Amino acid sequence: MPPLYDLSLPALTGLLTDWGQPAYRARQIWEGLYQHFYLSAEEFTALPKSLRLRLAATFDFAPLVPEKSLASADGQTVKTLFRLADNLRIEAVLMKYDRRRTLCISTQAGCAMGCVFCATGQMGFKRHLSSGEIVAQVMYYARQLGQQGERVTNIVVMGMGEPFHNYDNTMAAIDRLNDPAGYNFGARRITLSTVGLVPAIRRFAAEKRQVNLAISLHAADDALRASMLPVARKYPLDELLAACRDYVAATGRRVTFEWALIEGVNDTPEQARLLASKVKGMLCHVNAIPLNPTEGYRGKAATRQRAEKFRETLEQAGVPCTLRLRRGIEIQAGCGQLAYK
Ligand code: SAH
Ligand code: SF4
Repeated sequence: MPPLYDLSLPALTGLLTDWGQPAYRARQIWEGLYQHFYLSAEEFTALPKSLRLRLAATFDFAPLVPEKSLASADGQTVKTLFRLADNLRIEAVLMKYDRRRTLCISTQAGCAMGCVFCATGQMGFKRHLSSGEIVAQVMYYARQLGQQGERVTNIVVMGMGEPFHNYDNTMAAIDRLNDPAGYNFGARRITLSTVGLVPAIRRFAAEKRQVNLAISLHAADDALRASMLPVARKYPLDELLAACRDYVAATGRRVTFEWALIEGVNDTPEQARLLASKVKGMLCHVNAIPLNPTEGYRGKAATRQRAEKFRETLEQAGVPCTLRLRRGIEIQAGCGQLAYK
């Protein structure tokens, strides 16, 4: 059965009309899903029983089954493993700092991009998630947080998978989360990260979405970048950075460049200077994070000292850079550590 979350409001309205139901029923269901976070037909007590039964026989109300949750020692990071209807697994992560409740969600089971230092890349591609499977990750946490009087404050599309490889479903999911009649989650509080699929970046720019864009750069020259991110062979840095400049020009929005600092590989002052020369004048900033360990990659995280030096070199060359803390590493919930074994 298809997930009920796969439907847009117009599609749901059309279906209910076909079923001979009054128009307001679609709204009731929509509110049940996205404002009350109902997970089964029985919870929709405002609906007539016959309609509940028909919906339950037609749709999967809970396409994600939480199988296991792991919390970091400080309790601030929680990773949940979900089983999909076809028994594949995906992971999502909730990070709590201060008042923020940031959710990291997946768009694919596995990933086809094969970045060498990424656990998801190391497992290979299984399949795209449907829009409803993407939305369901958010609704799961929205319900859980809601029971504690809290809500999701930020969403990062940085879990398993390459969102621009699954463009349509990812954007449909974001649109559904945005819907003022439903969950009403602001696009500005969503950040999407891509490995750098140039045509998709251009499409995204043309759509002028309010979603924040992050690009996984990790290297300032093509040879080094391609040694870590195979997709760099297809989209050289010059093309990628040109697409980023055009994105900034079209949207007026700042781009984030992500950089996993690997000792002796891309944490050198030379890489920092080269990067600065290439992004000079662009409305951008660099998010650097020491590499998180994964089974299939031998590179080491940059030391604190080298990471600081990298940041300073960039800043001195006029490129803003933040060094991020590593979180949830011991439960394999850090960037690039999501995989189902
Ligand atoms: N596929 C998208 C989004 C998911 S990965 C992308 O690649 O951008 C989210 C971020 O984690 C990316 O910037 C990715 O390069 C980074 N990442 C992957 N493996 C990592 C690791 N082992 N340590 C630190 N960051 C990693
Ligand atoms: Fe895929 Fe992103 Fe991992 Fe690369 S870093 S393999 S694009 S999830």
